[in-house]
Amino acid sequence: MTATILSGSELAKSMRKEIETDVTAFVEQHGFPPTAAIVRVGEDPASISYSNALEKSFGQRGLGFQLHALSGTASQEDIVELVARLNADPSIHGIMVQEPLPQGIDESAIKDALSPDKDVDGVHPVNTGRLAQAAPVGRPPMVAPFFVPATPSGGLEILKQHEVNLEGKHAVVVGRSSIVGKPMALLLLRENASVSLCHSYTSGLPGMCLMADILCAAVGRARMIKGDWIKPGAVVIDFGVNFVDGEMVGDVDFNEAIEVAGMITPVPGGTGPMTNIMLMKNLIGAARRQVE
Ligand code: NDP
Repeated sequence: MTATILSGSELAKSMRKEIETDVTAFVEQHGFPPTAAIVRVGEDPASISYSNALEKSFGQRGLGFQLHALSGTASQEDIVELVARLNADPSIHGIMVQEPLPQGIDESAIKDALSPDKDVDGVHPVNTGRLAQAAPVGRPPMVAPFFVPATPSGGLEILKQHEVNLEGKHAVVVGRSSIVGKPMALLLLRENASVSLCHSYTSGLPGMCLMADILCAAVGRARMIKGDWIKPGAVVIDFGVNFVDGEMVGDVDFNEAIEVAGMITPVPGGTGPMTNIMLMKNLIGAARRQVE
């Protein structure tokens, strides 16, 4: 069997058009674009290249973008003060504080400082709490609108756009970070899948993965998940971004997995391109809620 490739690049391409249409409509109605502020502290190269990429892609879609780059010696108070200013600025609709933050900065204090209404990457406790409390799809939501982190949100979008049935399926998520694995598990639970959430203490990980109808990898270990960990026909979503000899590879051994899985996201070109798209969607949603 050779798996169907779930291309995030293709999906992102078609969703970019929808985003451009939404941005144009927003600007016609309000006279200004939905605008994001990115806070970067220090000179981490990956962080610089990510904010440059965001600036370019937001600009191409007509979205507003402001970069607030603080020096690596900025104090926690400096960052909180800047976030408070951005919270109060009506021309800013979404705020993201990039990680890593310099040593000694309490990341949770910075997340707490964000306005939940402008927290477009869904890291504020109000947004993570609402995701945890939200009722399963098909039932009254029980919580006010909230933001979901863009990466798992993009993974779910890939599943939905390819009409993968999640209801009653066994989903196994490997990795429990608050930005990828845990929210992905909660999203799948909300879609009425039965979810196992695995991590570095999970015993018998290959056997756990073998039970998955939907297998999501968010570990950060190159090609860790082998072909014989995958149930024949399973749907595999690989969030991993690792570099081996300069080549970008996922957490799943793609060459092995493609022979066993029913559907699989490639790396690159799978979940990665969807992250930006979901961020843009969250920003447009935030701007609408704030001004309409
Ligand atoms: P973290 O390092 O925050 O979390 C990794 C998780 O994997 C932890 O829960 C850890 O367990 C678990 N883990 C580590 N080793 C093992 C192991 N041997 N067996 C089982 N579980 C293990 O990573 P992130 O969640 O931030 O990122 C995960 C991957 O996703 C990375 O490759 C990252 O680059 C990528 N990523 C991709 C994005 C995209 O746009 N596609 C965006 C963000 C991240 P424990 O909790 O016990 O320590």
